[in-house]
Amino acid sequence: MNATTVNLVYLAAAILFILGIKGLGKPKTAVRGNLMSAVGMLLAVVITLLDNSIVNFEYIIAGAVLGTLIGGVMAIKVQMTAMPQMVAMLNGFGGGASLAIALAEYYAKVGEASALTETLGASPFGTGAIGVIAVLSISLTILIGAVTLTGSFVAFAKLQEWMKKDYGLPGGPIGNGALLLIGLGAIIALCLTPTNATLIIVIVIAALLLGLFLVMPIGGADMPVVIALLNSYSGIAAALAGFILGNTVLIVAGSLVGTSGLILTKIMCVAMNRSLANVLFGKMAAGGESISADEVYGGKVKSAQPEEAAMMLETAKRVVIVPGFGMAMAQAQHAVRELMDVLEARGCEVEFAIHPVAGRMPGHMNVLLAEAEVPYEKLVEMDRINPTFEETDVAIVIGANDVTNPMAREDKGSPIYGMPILHVDKAKNVLVIKRSLSPGFAGLPNPLFAMDHTYMVYGDGKKAVIDMTAALDMAD
Ligand code: NDP
Repeated sequence: MNATTVNLVYLAAAILFILGIKGLGKPKTAVRGNLMSAVGMLLAVVITLLDNSIVNFEYIIAGAVLGTLIGGVMAIKVQMTAMPQMVAMLNGFGGGASLAIALAEYYAKVGEASALTETLGASPFGTGAIGVIAVLSISLTILIGAVTLTGSFVAFAKLQEWMKKDYGLPGGPIGNGALLLIGLGAIIALCLTPTNATLIIVIVIAALLLGLFLVMPIGGADMPVVIALLNSYSGIAAALAGFILGNTVLIVAGSLVGTSGLILTKIMCVAMNRSLANVLFGKMAAGGESISADEVYGGKVKSAQPEEAAMMLETAKRVVIVPGFGMAMAQAQHAVRELMDVLEARGCEVEFAIHPVAGRMPGHMNVLLAEAEVPYEKLVEMDRINPTFEETDVAIVIGANDVTNPMAREDKGSPIYGMPILHVDKAKNVLVIKRSLSPGFAGLPNPLFAMDHTYMVYGDGKKAVIDMTAALDMAD
């Protein structure tokens, strides 16, 4: 196959990837975006196989069939709440694949090196800058791929609650820094003596350990940010592998994953009002312990039964539903959609307030509500819905806590001060559905629950919403 055809198909694949990512930015175009990227990937794979006239198609077909079967079963079986660990595992495989490519390329090149080249003192990777770039591409792919592999599997184990303790190296970041220095030192040495395979082993071991110890000390609740970062690493490793193989489409796809993962990491950190360093090396900022729940709630919290809550909804003209992590835990999305239908049938306007980090992964709420077929136009982003709370008769908070905490706006001493929140407290009435007054991810009490116009509806999110909907349905 001629080079121009291959490059044109690669270009088409790259355009499809870019349009695909753009489509993923909005729920309405997300499915189409996903499909476009998948077609781009199919084109890239097919043309690569044809171009390189791969000899053994049997192995490739067997691998593709097995991979499709395993991936298909996993995708069908995985619970929405277990999606972050699935993404973590897939990132790990991506890093592992890049690691394998780099190792194979290294050993193939060293193996091919003729005795003559060695006696002449020439490197099998080429001479001068070309040789150094080739060795750097291979060794950096090994380093980043190996960190991604073990880091992602630790992230998986933490989210799956197989690893509950936060282990770390002595000295924390210093111990990790030492491992990184060993890896980088071995890379520099390898550039000077490219055929010294012991150095490759040093890089692999240092990087595998670094991945383990980077992620092991980080709390399970911070894993989504770590996963976004590891996703970015897997992209960088793939882009570097593209350099090794001289494959432009792999460079483009890897760079897209690398940058979009970094952007996502930044968005998540900003929405949580935390720096990346704080996520990677620290815990939630101190200060939370000084605010006791008794101080915030003491005798001020009122509760309502689902039937009483339904009475409040009977006369509402505008209702905003605020979903959070608890809605995902209770799998209440279908019940919530039914509540929306009943309210709308009564002539009430209903919208959903979507906070960027509600739940435990970006887009968590959008995905769940889309699954329950809530129309996309009803999912309103934080900045657009906030000014409307004052005209909202009832805000129904379902398993959301931190993303509604007014301390983030008002209490300068609070660890979440500065985190953007949904201004639920500005609504005329607030119903909060959760099982108790337990805190959310940030471990803080929420003054919203003790406000005069707030009523707690205690119970599992799904059951409480079903009971409220049934009571509302029976009204009139
Ligand atoms: P929170 O973690 O603040 O609160 C969730 C609440 O859900 C809890 O208070 C809990 O209360 C309640 N809950 C749990 N199970 C149920 C159930 N079955 N039925 C009803 N309620 C239930 O969630 P938010 O969504 O408000 O905030 C997300 C937090 O996660 C933020 O602090 C954010 O920074 C953090 N985070 C988000 C990430 C993301 O990408 N989305 C990534 C990393 C962290 P109770 O036990 O009383 O029922």
